[in-house]
Amino acid sequence: MSKRKIAVLPGDGIGPEIMDATISILEATGFEADWVFLEGGLGALEKGLPALPPETIDTIREIGIALKGPTTTPKGGGHVSANVQLRQALDLYANVRPAKTLPGVKGPFMGHKLDMVIVRENTEDLYAGIEILPHPDLAQAIKVITRPGCQRVIRYAFEMARREGRTRVTAVHKANIMKITDGMFLEEFFKIAPEYPEIKADDIIVDNCCMQLVTNPEQFDVLVTENLYGDIVSDLCAGLVGGLGLAPGANIGDNCAVFEAVHGSAPDIAGKGVANPTALLLSAIMMLRHLGLNEQADQIANSVLRVCSDGKCLTMDLGGKASTNEYKVEVIRQCAPAAV
Ligand code: ATP
Repeated sequence: MSKRKIAVLPGDGIGPEIMDATISILEATGFEADWVFLEGGLGALEKGLPALPPETIDTIREIGIALKGPTTTPKGGGHVSANVQLRQALDLYANVRPAKTLPGVKGPFMGHKLDMVIVRENTEDLYAGIEILPHPDLAQAIKVITRPGCQRVIRYAFEMARREGRTRVTAVHKANIMKITDGMFLEEFFKIAPEYPEIKADDIIVDNCCMQLVTNPEQFDVLVTENLYGDIVSDLCAGLVGGLGLAPGANIGDNCAVFEAVHGSAPDIAGKGVANPTALLLSAIMMLRHLGLNEQADQIANSVLRVCSDGKCLTMDLGGKASTNEYKVEVIRQCAPAAV
């Protein structure tokens, strides 16, 4: 039988290092795939290609599943974000970002036991990229919200909550100020909610949400929100559970799914061999579950739990001294000792 194809975009900065560690761990557990490596990000630009070459998009579309490392996006000018382009080109409308406490990880919020999922709309909002400069002293951006765009991501959040036995879905918005755009999101949320009577549906204004995430985060279960709020709130949630090195993500569309960590390319630590691969590894675990490989997913997830709660082989971002490679070997030792 031919192996399952998986598109791989290692990306920039720490991308190739954490991708290498993640694939080694997956393979050590016996997961076999035909990894199709693709160009993208700064590497592609250096070769005179666009940051997201059309061939990369086409191949991911054809294969239907990809594991992606971070790609650098210049601030201010420069090329359009490859991440945003990919999500829009493949219509990956739901960005799923779980935030779950890992035992043993130290940090200011570690007294809490959190298990939340942020479902972020991934293709619209201010990320539509419509910015204009009608006058040298006037810059404008257009926030795009469509009714079908709201409906599909809200429905995804409720379906996911039902599938995972979650009990509350909260819409995060600023409809008191953005009455038409966020108003539409909220209206669609409360139209869809009655289809899921077993799930409590409520809403919260984004600023209050941030405050309550810091003071009483346990109350939240699933948060569904627009693109920009989702980006900010999910980084906040990553901080609550120990930092960006632990925050995984999935970009889901009707025909395609791309799994990637929440964090960026971390150029400050790239090439030093100290990056934490856990966020990408947890994203790969989401990919295994998406493929129905729950046993293998559990095997690796339990190993990550054991390594974190043991605390002896943590990377620098978590207060430890382990290199990326030492951490990788430790996770493999836990889940597939024969492979070490
Ligand atoms: P980009 O421009 O690609 O978004 P960035 O450095 O602005 O990169 P992040 O990559 O998200 O943003 O990093 C923010 C901080 O978190 C950096 O100091 C980085 O070193 C740290 N960091 C992010 N990811 C990891 C990781 N996997 N392991 C260790 N530290 C990380």
